[in-house]
Amino acid sequence: MTEQTDHFDIVIIGSGPAGFTAAIYAARGGATAALFGGVAPGGQLLQTMEIENYPGFVEPVVGADLMQKMLKQASRLGARVFSEDISAVDFSVRPFRLTAGAKTYTAGAVIAATGAQARWLGLPSEQKFIGKGVSGCATCDGFFFRGKEVCVIGGGDSAAEDALFLTKFASKVYLVHRRDKLRATFRLQEKVRTNPKIQVVYDHVPEEITGEAKVTGVNLRNVKTGAPLRLDTPGVFIAIGHSPATEIFKGQLNLDDAGYIVTNAELGTSVCGVFAAGDVMDTRYKQAVVAAGAGCKAAMEALLYLESTKN
Ligand SMILES: Cc1cc2nc3c(=O)[nH]c(=O)nc-3n(C[C@H](O)[C@H](O)[C@H](O)COP(=O)(O)OP(=O)(O)OC[C@H]3O[C@@H](n4cnc5c(N)ncnc54)[C@H](O)[C@@H]3O)c2cc1C
Repeated sequence: MTEQTDHFDIVIIGSGPAGFTAAIYAARGGATAALFGGVAPGGQLLQTMEIENYPGFVEPVVGADLMQKMLKQASRLGARVFSEDISAVDFSVRPFRLTAGAKTYTAGAVIAATGAQARWLGLPSEQKFIGKGVSGCATCDGFFFRGKEVCVIGGGDSAAEDALFLTKFASKVYLVHRRDKLRATFRLQEKVRTNPKIQVVYDHVPEEITGEAKVTGVNLRNVKTGAPLRLDTPGVFIAIGHSPATEIFKGQLNLDDAGYIVTNAELGTSVCGVFAAGDVMDTRYKQAVVAAGAGCKAAMEALLYLESTKN
């Protein structure tokens, strides 16, 4: 019995702004394109009600609406969108092989756009207030806290950078860290220390985020003494890092120490014909418009790659 496979010129794995933009460009570039987006396609922006910095929208756009528009646009242009996860890839053979459910697909080129997830503390109250005062993205949400007090949880470079960024809007920024020293680079620590708007709260961990419809503050505990401390901050920014979704690429693509896919300037990976775009390879910006731009670049490079394999 022969195995049934469907072949596409370009298969895109992931359904955030990077994946859908790649699908739009691949389909418009004349390729047969399939996008596998998981059971609930749309990516991280599904978690946010108000996006104010995606170009083209005068008024804030709801994340789910923006992603629905991208999905419809990609479908209208001819990309096939599957609400399934890719569970395994084999980049050692040509064409590349990808597994979704019980089925195997083949592809001339692949774009990995599986994104990343902000790491959360794991408090039940945190999940309840995401988008209502709890945020994993200072660049995205800092603007909503003009003139208010906020706190940032974390002690590494991203936490220090977020705290510094938030001083542009907030009247005061508490930087809450569980140890007695920040892990951020010396230069960032100096900037934090000399910024009059930032107060570092050492040796404390969040116990509960409180509020009704929106956040009203956070209850902390001193890890050394056990003493409680209350901060009345309507904004709580969690800055304890991101986890890239690269499990299926382990052993197939070069990943860096934090698990991000390593790419060159053309977004090529360690396997010729496999490209990566968006938060799965972006250790720095993590913004929707940057992911969309990378999706466009990856699709253009994949089309060029396919062209080069024809001769
Ligand atoms: C709460 C929140 C608010 C934000 N607000 C803003 C904002 O206002 N402005 C802004 O520019 N950015 C914002 N961001 C950041 C923005 O969402 C990300 O930068 C952007 O979504 C990254 O896009 P991406 O396409 O790389 O991946 P993602 O959006 O992470 O999407 C990847 C998708 O691929 C899917 N996937 C993963 N593995 C597989 C697999 N094996 N098979 C199939 N599918 C898979 C995932 O389930 C996910 O749906 C926000 C992020 C969060 C969490």
